[in-house]
Amino acid sequence: MLKYFPLPCAIVDIETTGGNVTYDRITEIGIIEVTEDGVKEWSTLINPRAHIPEGIQLLTGITNDMVNAAPYFEQVAKEILLRLQGKLFVAHNVRFDYGFIRNEFARLTYTFKSKLMCTVRLSRFLYPDQDGHSLEKIITRHQIYVTHRHRALDDAKATYKFMAIAEEEKGEAAIKEALKHQYRKESMPAQFDANLIDELPNAPGVYYFWGENKELLYIGKSVNIRKRVLSHFTADHKSSREMKICQQTRNITFDKTTGELSALILESRKVKELQPIYNRKLRRVSTFYSIQLEEGSDGILKPQICAISEMPLSRQKLYGLFPSNKKAKHAIQSLCDEYSLCYHVCGLEKPGSRACSSYQLRKCKGYCVGKQLALQHNVKLLDSLGALALKTWPYNGPVSITEQDASGQQKHLVIDNWCVIGVADSLDEISELLNQKLNPQIDRDTYRYLVTAVFSKDNAVVIRPIRGSL
Ligand SMILES: [Zn+2]
Repeated sequence: MLKYFPLPCAIVDIETTGGNVTYDRITEIGIIEVTEDGVKEWSTLINPRAHIPEGIQLLTGITNDMVNAAPYFEQVAKEILLRLQGKLFVAHNVRFDYGFIRNEFARLTYTFKSKLMCTVRLSRFLYPDQDGHSLEKIITRHQIYVTHRHRALDDAKATYKFMAIAEEEKGEAAIKEALKHQYRKESMPAQFDANLIDELPNAPGVYYFWGENKELLYIGKSVNIRKRVLSHFTADHKSSREMKICQQTRNITFDKTTGELSALILESRKVKELQPIYNRKLRRVSTFYSIQLEEGSDGILKPQICAISEMPLSRQKLYGLFPSNKKAKHAIQSLCDEYSLCYHVCGLEKPGSRACSSYQLRKCKGYCVGKQLALQHNVKLLDSLGALALKTWPYNGPVSITEQDASGQQKHLVIDNWCVIGVADSLDEISELLNQKLNPQIDRDTYRYLVTAVFSKDNAVVIRPIRGSL
């Protein structure tokens, strides 16, 4: 009996001639009804009016001969309906079973509808740290005894047992929370095989969303591939772009990495190489714009926008990394308004005999009309840019960061002046990398990650200077 799941419910499993909900047909159905009065089991083979492929016969043990002698769906439709009607429809990957049953009813011009619960999602919610939530994995994990794997009633029984085990292990509050999560609106597309998500690892790496005709839609990275991919499908969509990606996705693939930084490096490389449709343009750019200060004739400091494709080695101060010249100019404009700076000095207007337009709006303190000293303006300007200042590389040369995945595999990431020089599999390879005079390109995500790693107090990332460098 079930204690915390809503009753009555029907735990359903079907076997089919294949995985296509439109063309393939049901060969067997098993239903476990759980009501206040107790538990009833029922199953029947069904004649699919179609050939069962060899591989599926081997998998299920259901042969063409067996189903030839079985009733057609319409002959058992009423029986099935009586067992399912008015009950919560539960299945492992419920969209599959529900989709097939709905289609069989639709062929009889009947619209079957039910409230659904998916035990794949249930397992994912209650056991988030486990790797994989296929029925096979769940059976092994919870040591569920099954007589005949891939026969409908036996698989339904396994699902039922899993629900009972989850109740025991997790308790009422967790089950209620899981149910709430189930009923939350989600936008998993109908054409999408939910099993794909089952196969994603709880590990760092890069994931790829593929559309119709194997067209690459999007590349993303995460410290936890599965969690991140799921969030694409379950989050309330922030943009129509994200909605579009989800609706068009037909397949998801992934590359595991040893850690977050290598995921970042791989993502950046793959985006540039494969140019997915929906990755924002700025992630493809390899030239950034920054702001530097130039000293004018009377000692006035003027912000200048400069393009950079690699981190300058000089110790000259740079402020901000912007994906375009326009974005850099916008940043200067807002700093001007916020800190009452002069438009003439900041290059937003050509200096002339008249005051800048900011002065006319009583914001600029009047450097342009000789009412403010260069020094006063300089102090304000430096103050305004302070937060944008790019950090100076605090080492005396290249460093390595070693990542290790759950299986113990290691990668050494070689970094100099905030740029990734390369990835080495062994310590020997590090010196090889340093000997090839590479031209490391700047990458905003990598820069941000490294700044956090270098300056954060917790030592989650170990940074080792290479070759006598400090
Ligand atoms: Zn002015």
